[in-house]
Amino acid sequence: MESSENIDESWDCTPEEWNDWQWQLENSITNVEELQEHFDLSDQQAQEIEEATNIFPMSITPYYASLIDFDSEYCPIRLQSIPQKSELEESAYEMSDPLHEEEDSPVPGLTHRYPDRVLLLVTNKCSMFCRHCTRKRKVGDSQQKVDLEQIKTGIEYIKDNPQIRDVLLSGGDPLLLDLDVLEEIIVELKEISHVDVVRIGSRVPVVLPQRIDDELISMLKKYSPIWINTHFNHKKELTTTAKKALDRLADNGFPLGNQTVLLRNVNDCPLVMKELMHELVKNRIRPYYLYQCDLSRGIEHFRTSISAGIEIMESLIGHTSGFAVPRYVVDAPGGGGKIPVTPNYVVSSSRQKTVLRNYEGNIVVYTEPEIKSDECPEECNVCTEIEEKADNGETVEPQGVQKLLSEENDEISL
Ligand code: SF4
Repeated sequence: MESSENIDESWDCTPEEWNDWQWQLENSITNVEELQEHFDLSDQQAQEIEEATNIFPMSITPYYASLIDFDSEYCPIRLQSIPQKSELEESAYEMSDPLHEEEDSPVPGLTHRYPDRVLLLVTNKCSMFCRHCTRKRKVGDSQQKVDLEQIKTGIEYIKDNPQIRDVLLSGGDPLLLDLDVLEEIIVELKEISHVDVVRIGSRVPVVLPQRIDDELISMLKKYSPIWINTHFNHKKELTTTAKKALDRLADNGFPLGNQTVLLRNVNDCPLVMKELMHELVKNRIRPYYLYQCDLSRGIEHFRTSISAGIEIMESLIGHTSGFAVPRYVVDAPGGGGKIPVTPNYVVSSSRQKTVLRNYEGNIVVYTEPEIKSDECPEECNVCTEIEEKADNGETVEPQGVQKLLSEENDEISL
């Protein structure tokens, strides 16, 4: 059963309770006994779930649990929410912090990996403990509480670094914070003149869409624009209730993006992925990233090969609208940041011609222009403005390969 009009009867509650996000959180399934009240578990299943839960806690909202088809071993909702014994299998490659978020953290709770943007962790609370979560090491750990003092230190760091123009609030799930706390954080960020973009990463529209209520919308709307990044991994998650929440966000002007994680047996199929992308676009969500699964502890069973991701991209690029195609990225183990991966479309290149292939496999030649002069138009002064900003500490020098390409650079390697 999926929508607020269809309450799962195994929960003895009123429609008002079912549609109340606080009720949903209070009644989340957190142990095997509670799971057994709603699903028919064998003794072995119960034991395996209990063992996995002892290491990686479980929390499933009644709403998300009501979407589970327990008869299907490969139900994508079940795989993402119910613990499995494979979570306990150790892999030689797993890491507790594969993205080096803690190493790239100049102050606690803030990751500054890229020059002009930061990730600010504002809570460790989640509405559900996703089995594939890359931050399994933090989620549900009461020792890892994020307090207001820590958030303020992060905001001070952002104030002191004028090159930061984009702040992503993450966690945990920022939309679970008390509204006054979330508002205070947003107000402080919006008051920083060099911060152009505030984004919120949230799984609430997927696992707790009841949270997208009038109160939340009217608070967030005061600080528009705020970008919302959701995290749908399968078409089945786009229920009537989730769509209503998304409509509310889109109708109120919030730009919506989606980050999908490539998960074995959940969405590692070109057809399943294309269906998801189309469903997102139909609901005014722009597919943003498709993430290769990280090397985190407890999620080895979800990992696919990179070639599975390339095959999916091959099936999307050119085969559907450009805005329905996410960027496939591997978040480099060890903290190297997101590395885009695509099928190869450049067959070869000379100074006169570049040979390309299209999505159908047709080989075409693009004749390069005869460059008469590579000087910039006289009236353009963008470089001068950027240099002035750099003098004021407002921007940074080119980095990486971009630096090697820059005319001023005389280094020959990185
Ligand atoms: S909501 Fe996000 S942070 Fe929380 S468990 Fe799920 S994936 Fe992890």
